[in-house]
Amino acid sequence: MRFFFPDAHELVDPGYDFARRHDPPRGVGQQDGRYAHELLDPAPYDGILLSRGVIQGKGSDADGRFRDAKYKLSEQQRLYRVGAREFFRAGGRPLLFVGDCGAFSYRAEPEPPYTVDGVVGFYEACRVDWGVSVDHVILGYDHRLDSRTPGGEVPADWRRRQEITMTLAGEFIRRARAGRHAFEPVGAAQGWSPGSYAVCVADLQKMGYRRVALGGMVALKSAEVLRVLAGVSEVRRPETELHLLGLNRLDHVAAFRRFGVTSFDSTSPLTQAFKDDRDNYYTPGRTYSAVRVRIADPKVTPELRRLMAAGGLTQTDALRLEGEAWAAVLGYAARRVPLEDAVAAVLRYERPFGGHPANAARYRETLADRPWETCGCAVCAALGVHCVLFRGAERNRRRGFHNLSVTHRELRKALAAGGEAA
Ligand SMILES: [Zn+2]
Repeated sequence: MRFFFPDAHELVDPGYDFARRHDPPRGVGQQDGRYAHELLDPAPYDGILLSRGVIQGKGSDADGRFRDAKYKLSEQQRLYRVGAREFFRAGGRPLLFVGDCGAFSYRAEPEPPYTVDGVVGFYEACRVDWGVSVDHVILGYDHRLDSRTPGGEVPADWRRRQEITMTLAGEFIRRARAGRHAFEPVGAAQGWSPGSYAVCVADLQKMGYRRVALGGMVALKSAEVLRVLAGVSEVRRPETELHLLGLNRLDHVAAFRRFGVTSFDSTSPLTQAFKDDRDNYYTPGRTYSAVRVRIADPKVTPELRRLMAAGGLTQTDALRLEGEAWAAVLGYAARRVPLEDAVAAVLRYERPFGGHPANAARYRETLADRPWETCGCAVCAALGVHCVLFRGAERNRRRGFHNLSVTHRELRKALAAGGEAA
């Protein structure tokens, strides 16, 4: 089972000074920053997913104008000039690169804004190993539409999006074969139910695809994904390998294997590190809550800015409370300060911000268990307690890297154990 990480320009500054209470971010560029695979050995994923929507931004091949790109124009040009392997500094790491369109970015458009030629050209330029056909995401799911009982009509828009996806998949494999391109074509399947996904997969196999990517999975629960896979297994040929595009929940990934799933991509281990209020630090058996010690600078902490504007806290007080929490947590990590003193200092600083009442117990648990000391990943080894501090992008993103590493390690273990327990 290969785990791909969708690239969204997630880099950290290798020169960031964690020991300084206020080290303003320098905003490192792609060439000075470090990717997760450069900090962690082995790399915390098996490959990287490159979405055209992320790299080039919104826009259409018809007029060639793109906007809101994650990549600067100079970065795009360098990527196309040197290829993904060199651009991402993969070195000797066995990373695979997959290209897709990032269909979610144009979900609101009546049709995909990209042409098959444009996408093939993009994959060629990036020198990806696999290229996913152009697709149009279906923004709904209802397994009841498979039954023949009355009461459900498939929305016309869903059918139309599936037809578009299949027409473009046919065009894509013809074009990919005719050009003798270096990438392996992957057929994208979109559906709204197990039956509709199965129809799609059957058609893609007829077109000649040996690898199929199931899209529209982001909002599905693991049980629904399993139901879709069971439906697809009715038509899947033994040699057809499945990829799950954009998984949010990784609790059953090892179980997906018996349905022919050999790869998936997910951004959630990284994003959970800073988008989730509580389950944001992974360990093999459970998740912990990172301890919030906000940066007492209204320029980087919008909550503080609002609080100061509303008269809830002065900057002087914020700096004093922050300093006390900072010293107490670091002192606790160095075994100089008792646990309860550290928890109390953190909560005193959090109180004006209105933190969740359960945070006291959560923070106490995180600090008491000291998971950063037993993790063994290079991020925890380098950062120590800073890895469990919810504070600024440099720490939070590195905690995301740590989460990727734990996910990858646990996935390997579950697969080695046979996958049933996972
Ligand atoms: Zn770690």
